[in-house]
Amino acid sequence: MKDKLAILGGAKVRKEPFRFLPEIGAEEKTLVREVLENGMLSGFVAQPGDTFLGGQKVRELEQLCVQYFGVPHAVAMNSATAALHAALAAAGIGAADEVIVTPYTMSATATAILMQNAVPIFADIDPVHFCIDPAQVRKKITPRTKAIMVVHLFGHPADMDPIMAIAREKKLVVIEDCAQAPGAEYKGKRVGTIGDAGIFSLNQHKIITTGEGGIAVTRDADFAFRMQLVRNHGEVVLAEMKLPSLDQAPDLLGWNYRITELEAAVGIGQFKRLDGLTDQRRTLANYLTERLKKFPGLTPPAPAKDVRHVYFTYPIVYDRTRIQDIGRDTFIKALRAEGIPCGGGYVKPIYHQPVYQKKTVYGKQGCPFRCPLYKNEIQYRQGDCPVTESMYAEKLLLLPVCREPHTEWDMDDVLRAFAKIFDSLDDLKSYKEEKVARS
Ligand SMILES: *Cc1c(COP(=O)(O)O)cnc(C)c1O
Repeated sequence: MKDKLAILGGAKVRKEPFRFLPEIGAEEKTLVREVLENGMLSGFVAQPGDTFLGGQKVRELEQLCVQYFGVPHAVAMNSATAALHAALAAAGIGAADEVIVTPYTMSATATAILMQNAVPIFADIDPVHFCIDPAQVRKKITPRTKAIMVVHLFGHPADMDPIMAIAREKKLVVIEDCAQAPGAEYKGKRVGTIGDAGIFSLNQHKIITTGEGGIAVTRDADFAFRMQLVRNHGEVVLAEMKLPSLDQAPDLLGWNYRITELEAAVGIGQFKRLDGLTDQRRTLANYLTERLKKFPGLTPPAPAKDVRHVYFTYPIVYDRTRIQDIGRDTFIKALRAEGIPCGGGYVKPIYHQPVYQKKTVYGKQGCPFRCPLYKNEIQYRQGDCPVTESMYAEKLLLLPVCREPHTEWDMDDVLRAFAKIFDSLDDLKSYKEEKVARS
């Protein structure tokens, strides 16, 4: 006897909700209490001298990053968005420059480019790992190209070797957006340490969190110093510090991207959990992958050789032609009705957002797109990045469940819900047709 689908009024597979709040442990609490009792909630002062680089907890967090990533410099900021912007500013990206970026990412990756008055040029993703496709990057290079921004989407590393080869050949800066991939590895190297700078997010929804926060890592002392200037009103210290970088960045504007001691204190505790948390994600993801393979029309993630995937989320490619032509969104509704959290499509291709369609960022003049210095007419059109568009519109199904505090027992509920739906595809098909007929 078949169980009636929950979407058709049957009982849910999963009754209790999945949990998504991070675990904040004893160490985080002790460190935060230390800061509160000390009263120095932020150690930053925008003056030359020791305090320019922030307080003790900020430095301790940065030191942990330096050790973990094996790079000499880490600069903690109040978000990854801030850190992405600081990296582009430090790289000297500005008006009339083009930066190649994936359209399948959180909007801030591309917004950071607009913040420097430069123009985002979108290159499509590969259909297996959903990261920017090096062959598409190559096609988008012009004499105006200054940088490539790579996103290690969903915790899977982008294919860095060919991207670094293009960058070396064309003398381009490479910024890695690792917001979703702390602890991921590409051919034995931690992501974030391969390009010129790597950016991590510590916002509430990321693998480790400080509520809000971001970190940039780099091997280049000068690059790190410029990011420190951007972080803390650099213009006021430039003259007095008399550092060689001054000549290379006379136009460097400082912002306030300072992270507090409280957030840094949480970050120190969280950072020590990182490997344990990503191990758990990998274990749960592998458990799902082994068991989802048997369902026709579902392609579970297949990490590239020589990578460590950290499963920020768990992406499945959904092929309706093998699932009785039932649309992905109907399938998602059925899964949700069974009590399984899931999403479809991730985000709209970025160039579909109004800022790109209307091209109004800095006032009526339309800068940076119509900046007189930018001698090109950029168009963002439907069809520009077909792989991204199809992932968004019909193919990608995301299960954000492979994470603590969940266990294999929770994954079994997910698998039971898939099995139940696959047993009743005829019923689900009629549900969909009814809905269409009624509307
Ligand atoms: C979350 C995220 C960001 C922005 O992080 P914030 O810390 O919230 O600014 C940037 N890029 C990607 C890919 C992200 O997932």
